[in-house]
Amino acid sequence: MKYDFLIVGAGFAGCVCARQLAENDKTVLLIDRRDHIGGNAYDTHDAQGVLIHPYGPHIFHTNAKRIFVYLSRFTNWRFYEHRVLAKVGDQWLPIPINRTTINRLYGLSLDEQGIADYLEAHREPHDPIRTSEDVVLNSVGRDLCDKFFRGYTRKQWGLELSQLSAGVAARIPVRTNDDDRYFTDTYQFMPAEGYSRMFERMLDHGNIEIRLGLDFADAREQETYAHTVYTGPIDAFYGFRFGQLPYRSLHFEHQHLPDVSRYQPVGTVNYPNDHDYTRITEFRHLTGECGAGTSIVREYPRAEGDPYYPVLRPENNALFKRYEALSQAERTVTFVGRLAQYKYYNMDQVVAAALNMVGGLISQ
Ligand code: FAD
Ligand code: UDP
Repeated sequence: MKYDFLIVGAGFAGCVCARQLAENDKTVLLIDRRDHIGGNAYDTHDAQGVLIHPYGPHIFHTNAKRIFVYLSRFTNWRFYEHRVLAKVGDQWLPIPINRTTINRLYGLSLDEQGIADYLEAHREPHDPIRTSEDVVLNSVGRDLCDKFFRGYTRKQWGLELSQLSAGVAARIPVRTNDDDRYFTDTYQFMPAEGYSRMFERMLDHGNIEIRLGLDFADAREQETYAHTVYTGPIDAFYGFRFGQLPYRSLHFEHQHLPDVSRYQPVGTVNYPNDHDYTRITEFRHLTGECGAGTSIVREYPRAEGDPYYPVLRPENNALFKRYEALSQAERTVTFVGRLAQYKYYNMDQVVAAALNMVGGLISQ
């Protein structure tokens, strides 16, 4: 055997696995069909020298000290708390919905208790809560649901709120206070020199060999190895034998505006009701970079293209379970990551899954 492990995919899942296995004296060949490491969290400088995220905005946040401490081995951090406004009518309002959102939208001046009473009077109780529509109607009622969630969800997923599992909309909380941060996690930071630099340091180990622009289909012909860690889409691994597992894709329209120093007041503006794109992100808010000109990205959801999101709904989960049953019978292949586990993982959750997975492999 030339390598102990072949790792397919150099995103968060693959990079963390590679590092952990290498530190446990395993030899690793890490491949990716793309020409860069980092998976969807890859960042790079655009033609004008601005640090951008080619696959859409990535903001690191976690409550898990273990994950933050682990990644801190490979990067310093820049404190950053993400804020998002939603364009509703001609207003820009905080999302998650909070006290300011409701007061401004309806011309009210309610205090926290007043907002709690407002929500109680307008919510439509649902029990049990099964779908994303149940989640939103149960917490904020129909008008806020229609203004902030219905159109955005239709665009983002090509599905109605009622067709998606509760977990999708449940990512967005509702607040009665003025907290306008998108996340409230204990640790909210961006890698000081970017994600790609962090991945470079993670992979800087004598036991790791990296080959880019190489697909698993070719690597499996050319190389010898004892065990595979697979982080790509699980249905592709099995040749789609039970049918295609739906993954949602995006088209990213990047733009540099040379004469604009600040395009929008916060990192991201969501467009729930207008335009074909869901949101615009201005990178300088995330990275803290300043200077002349600014770079933004618009996200256009697509059915076809690179897989980015698992589409959480009961029938897709049932199909995933059939693939998962095959994967559980494998002795020399392990599946980990957002695409392989078909889970709506944030970055910190992928790191945790990868650390746990390697811990299990090493202790075998
Ligand atoms: P990926 O990053 O998808 O890596 C998988 C890699 O496998 C890819 O590079 C792919 O090219 C490679 N691959 C697949 N098949 C093959 C094959 N056959 N041969 C060779 N290589 C292959 N998370 C957050 O915590 N905060 C955020 O703000 C955030 N924003 C996001 C915004 C967008 C638009 C998207 C799409 C995701 C966002 N995420 C965010 C989620 C985050 O991107 C993921 O949790 C994380 O990057 C997943 O890592 P992964 O290694 O599992 O998968
Ligand atoms: N969502 C919405 N309106 C918003 C923000 C979110 O309807 O202004 C819904 C939508 O279905 C979205 C989901 O909540 O896909 C999760 O939002 P999040 O911002 O977590 O999505 P991500 O950053 O993962 O694309």
